[in-house]
This record gives sequence, structure tokens and C-alpha cells, in this order.
Amino acid sequence: AKTMGGGRTAVFERQMHSGALAMLQLETDLRLALKRQELLLYYQPIIDLKTGQIAGFEALVRWQHPRRGFVLPGEFIPVAEGTGSIVPMGAWVLEEACRQLQQWHERWKSLGLIPPNRERGEGVGGSAPFLTMSVNVAGVQFGNPGLVDYIDQILQQTGLSGSCLKLEITETAIMAAAESAASLLHQLKKRQIQLSIDDFGTGYSSLSRLQRLPIDTLKIDRSFVSRMSSEAESLEIVRTCIDLAHNLDMDVVAEGVETLEQLAQLRALQCESGQGYLFSRPVDATTATALWMSMPQW
Ligand code: C2E
Ligand code: CA
Ligand code: CA
Ligand code: CA
Repeated sequence: AKTMGGGRTAVFERQMHSGALAMLQLETDLRLALKRQELLLYYQPIIDLKTGQIAGFEALVRWQHPRRGFVLPGEFIPVAEGTGSIVPMGAWVLEEACRQLQQWHERWKSLGLIPPNRERGEGVGGSAPFLTMSVNVAGVQFGNPGLVDYIDQILQQTGLSGSCLKLEITETAIMAAAESAASLLHQLKKRQIQLSIDDFGTGYSSLSRLQRLPIDTLKIDRSFVSRMSSEAESLEIVRTCIDLAHNLDMDVVAEGVETLEQLAQLRALQCESGQGYLFSRPVDATTATALWMSMPQW
């Protein structure tokens, strides 16, 4: 038994060792990924549940690794956050997403598909901006003082109105960033940039702080949405989040909508928008363009 135990320990240590090595390799590769242009963005539509139209897209980063193939963000974002490479990576994501949105706006404007008053989101009666781009901002990035200047630069370069850009920040990151978070959010708001709380319901928001922050949208975490049809408790959580958001004058995006039953329930609860495999998986820019062009009615 003793030798067996020793053997197991050796195997375990070897695995740990190779795990640490793999992590180190991932870090190194990640730093080079940007330079080598291995990162790309996928886009998932966000659907206006009233009209069934695409209200915007969320940009989701992907990594085309030369040996590992297609790597999903769940595998490398946490590493990038830990090593700080999330800052240059996030900067690239913001710029690329805005460039794509500008391209879409231009293309659809040239086709006469964008009413002029909606292009800049300044229409009569405060009509919503034409098509928004949601970009995830990590906590580390959010704490970076250069963020606002960088965004100003991108908006200037692309000519996009701030109101077309939506930044998604997790509940945890906002609550962790304390005082500086509030001032940063207000600076962004001055530029009419929209702000969403991502993965809502999974963290511990202080409701009094939430109320004082200039947040436009709550995104209800997929874990609640995916269980709402089979579990009364999850349905109650979704209902409570929607009511809370509406009472605080925010709108709601339900994440991870996969079934028609969930869609019907969300509509009954007056949820404004939905995102999920029922409508579309995240797709590359070309497919997203085709998707928008076909404008499915849900
Ligand atoms: P998230 O912001 O909550 O993004 C939604 C995730 O849920 C995406 O995973 C999307 O593919 C997935 N999803 C959407 N609809 C459904 C559905 O109906 N069913 C299921 N099962 N999944 C659905 P993805 O693209 O793998 O991204 C995972 C997470 O990685 C994101 O979660 C976000 O936290 C992070 N992430 C992605 N791109 C970026 C980025 O550019 N910057 C930062 N900081 N984080 C990013
Ligand atoms: Ca998100
Ligand atoms: Ca989310
Ligand atoms: Ca999530």
C-alpha cells in the first residue's frame, strides 16, 4: 500500500508539474497571440423581444491557436486577467468591435436601411440607437485609468456615437471596484455610453449602491434562465430581477435563452431583450452580417 501511495504521489506531482508548465506556456502564447493576430471576435445577436429584431450584438473573443485550434474564452480569459495581458487584449477587442460596428452602420446606411435619426441614437422621442455593440470589460481593465481616454480615441476614429456602445461589466467587478468605479461609470455616461451589469444574480450586489450607479441594463445570468421553466425558484429569481431592474429604471437582457418556453415566459414577464442559442450561437462577422440581413422574426 505504501509503494502504491508513493507511486500515486509521484504521478500526481508529475501532473501538477505539467499543469503548471501548460499554464506557463499558455501565458507565453497569449502574450504573442495579439502580435500574431490569432485573436478574433465572434458576435451573438441580442434580440428585442417585442419586435423580434436584432437590437445589437455582443462581441465575444476567440483564439485561433496554431496548435490547440479554436480556444474558447473560458480557458484563456482567466489567465489573461491573472497576468494583466487582459489590458492590451481588451483594448484590441474594443477597437475591433467598434470597427465592425462602424462597418455595419456604413453598409446599411448606404443601403438606405438606417433611418438618419436613429443612426446616432438621437431620434425624436429618444428612439433607441440603431444597432448596438456590447463589449465585455474585465475588472482589471475597468480599474485601468486609461480606459476612458482610449474609448474617446476609438469613438473619434470610428465616428461612432457613444450611445451605440454598451459595456458589460460583471456584478462582482463593479462591487469590488468601490469608489473609483462610480466615477468611471459617470465619465462613461457623459459620453452616452450604455452600461450593463453582466451575469446578474451570481454576485452580491448592494442594492443601495446599484441604485446610485448609472446602469442602463441588467443581464440576467444564464443559470437562472436555463432553469426557469423547470424550477419555480429560478422563475421567481428571474421575475424578481426583472421587477428590480424596472423599478430602478433599467432594462433587462435574459442570457442563455434556448427554448420557446423560456421565450414565452420572458415575454410574459416584460423582459425587453434576449440572447441565446434559440436565436443564434455566437458567429463570425460574415455570418453575423448575413443574419442581420435576413432579419428573422421570432
Ligand atoms: P458572458 O459575457 O456571459 O457571455 C455569454 C456566454 O454564454 C458566451 O460564451 C456565449 O457563447 C454563451 N451563450 C450564449 N447563449 C447561450 C445559450 O443559449 N446557451 C449556452 N449554453 N451558452 C450560451 P463564450 O463566448 O464562451 O464566453 C464566455 C465568457 O468569456 C463570457 O461570458 C465573458 O465573461 C468572457 N468573455 C468573452 N469575450 C470576452 C472579452 O472580449 N473580454 C472579456 N473580458 N471577457 C470575455
Ligand atoms: Ca457578457
Ligand atoms: Ca453574461
Ligand atoms: Ca457568463
